[in-house]
Amino acid sequence: MPFSSLGLDPAMARAAANKGYAAPTAIQAAVIPPILQGRDILGAAQTGSGKTAAFSLPLLQRLASERPTAPRRLRALILVPTRELAAQVGESMRGLAQHLASSLKIAVAFGGVSINPQMMALRGGADVMIATPGRLLDLVDHRALKLSAVSMLVLDEADRLLDLGFADELGRILALLPAQRQNLLFSATFPAAVRSLAEGLLREPARVEVQAEPAEAPAILQRAIEVDAGRRTQLLRHLVQHEGWARVLVFVATKHAAEIVADKLRKAGIDAEPFHGVLSQGKRTQVLADFKASRVKVVVATDLAARGIDVVQLPAVVNYDLPRSAVDYVHRIGRTGRAGESGVALSFVSADSEAHFRLIEKRQGLNVPRERVAGFEPVETQAPARAPDSNGGVKGKRPSKKDKLRAAKASAS
Ligand code: AMP
Repeated sequence: MPFSSLGLDPAMARAAANKGYAAPTAIQAAVIPPILQGRDILGAAQTGSGKTAAFSLPLLQRLASERPTAPRRLRALILVPTRELAAQVGESMRGLAQHLASSLKIAVAFGGVSINPQMMALRGGADVMIATPGRLLDLVDHRALKLSAVSMLVLDEADRLLDLGFADELGRILALLPAQRQNLLFSATFPAAVRSLAEGLLREPARVEVQAEPAEAPAILQRAIEVDAGRRTQLLRHLVQHEGWARVLVFVATKHAAEIVADKLRKAGIDAEPFHGVLSQGKRTQVLADFKASRVKVVVATDLAARGIDVVQLPAVVNYDLPRSAVDYVHRIGRTGRAGESGVALSFVSADSEAHFRLIEKRQGLNVPRERVAGFEPVETQAPARAPDSNGGVKGKRPSKKDKLRAAKASAS
C-alpha cells in the first residue's frame, strides 16, 4: 500500500520516500487517515513502529495547507518526556518538512540548557513546537510563546510523560490551550493515569492498537546469563570482546554504577561512555551522537535511555542490572531490533536477582532459558546477606513498598 493511498498529498508521500520509507508501517496506515479527517487519536503502538512519522506526516500536511500568518502563530504542540526524544522528533520532523512548498518553522525546546537561544529562535514565531513540559512553561512564562492558537496537540509517550511526574505541568499546559483542537495521544502502555488523562482530553477518538506485523516486529532474541553479581563487569567485558557486537547499550540501576562500569571498560581498552541524568545536556547529546556515529562502542546508561532513543543498527542491549519493572524491561529491550532489524537483549541474572527476573518473565509471559558462560559460572547460590532486595541486586537502594510486595509475591509463587 503506497503512502498516497492514505490521503497524503504528493509532497508528503515524497517526503516519506525521501526518508527511504517504501511503504507505511501498520501504525502509519491506521492513524494517518483519521488524523487527516481531523479526528482525535488514542494510539497504542510498539516502540520502533514508526510512530513519529505517523503523526508528523498528516500534521505537517495540515499545517502546510493553511494560510500562513505573520508573525507565525504556534499551531501544533508536541509534548515529549525527555530531552533526547524532543531532539529526535524535531530532527525527524524537519527532515519530513524540508521539501514542503510552504516553509514551516519547527522549534525544539527542552531543559538542561540555556533558555536564551530557545527564546531567540522563537522570534518571529514558530508553526510547530516540540518540547518537554517544564521548559515549555518557562518559555510561556517568559512571554516567548503563546499557546492560544494551537489547533493540534500531540502527547508522545503519554505513559512516560505521566510517570516522570509531569501531571501538574501537563494540567497547566492544557489550561492554556484553546478548547477547540485536535488531540493525538500515543502511549506504549495504558496505566490508569493515562486512561483518565485520555478520557478527559479526547473527543470520540479513533482507538488504534497495532500489533507489530512480522515484517516490522522487532526480532529480539532474549537471553539470560547466570553470573555472580560481583563478576558482571568481567563478563560484560568478555562478551563485548567476543560476541562481535558493533555497539552495545548496557543498562544499570544507578548513575554511580554507570560511571563505574564505563570506567572499568575504558580501563580494559573498550570505548565506553556513561549516560545518565547528572551529565550536562551537552555531554548527553555528545555521547548519543558518538554512539550513533560508532565513535563509542558501549554506552552504560540508566533508564533515562530506555525510552524513545532510536539508534539504528543497535545489535545488543544488556541488562547489567535488571529493570525495576516488567514495563521498563519492554522499553529497554525495545532499543534493539528497531525498524525491522534483529537484535539481542541479554540479562544478567544472579542469585539475588533471580526471583525478580522470574517475576518479569511471568508478567511478560516469557520463559527465557538460563545460560552460563564458561569461566563465569556462578558459585553463589543465594542472595548475599547485604542485598536482600528484589530490585535486581541494586546496591545502596532500600526496597520500596512496591519492591517488598513484589518480593513477597515472588517468594510465594
Ligand atoms: P519511531 O517509532 O517513530 O521511533 O520510528 C522507528 C524507526 O522506524 C525510525 O528509525 C524511523 O525512521 C523508521 N521508520 C518510520 N517509518 C518507517 C517506514 N514507513 N518504513 C521504514 N522505516 C520507517
